[in-house]
Amino acid sequence: MSNNWVGDEFNNDWSPEVIFSQSQEYRTDSSQAEQMMLNLLNAPRDQQPHTCGWVVGGEACSDVLFPREFSGHLREHGVTGDDNAKMSCCWVGCDADPMNRESVLRHVVEVHLELKIECPDCGQTFTRRTTLNNHRRREHL
Ligand SMILES: [Zn+2]
Ligand SMILES: [Zn+2]
Ligand SMILES: [Zn+2]
Repeated sequence: MSNNWVGDEFNNDWSPEVIFSQSQEYRTDSSQAEQMMLNLLNAPRDQQPHTCGWVVGGEACSDVLFPREFSGHLREHGVTGDDNAKMSCCWVGCDADPMNRESVLRHVVEVHLELKIECPDCGQTFTRRTTLNNHRRREHL
């Protein structure tokens, strides 16, 4: 008698729906963790803080910022106004020719934050190492 009762309760706790929903949850957790690992391994630079090397009054700014904060931050360094206004990049050690204001932001991201990765085979640029790897597998093998 009591064995049957225990058996019923066991079945209720481990009904297929319960097991299914638990395994779904488990799958989600593990793939998120996996994704985070992959992100850290493959494309860390666009999620890591970078040091601002814009020279202000003879010294590099040295603020530490996330890449997405740089466009606002460079505005504080005077990278403002007309997109087509010519200006020079003031990043420490940079000898690039004067360029459009709009290009300065892109230039800083690509050249100084090194967020663009160049394909060694054809020179195309990518923001993520995984994208580059996929590209190389597809185009250059
Ligand atoms: Zn700065
Ligand atoms: Zn520069
Ligand atoms: Zn290529």
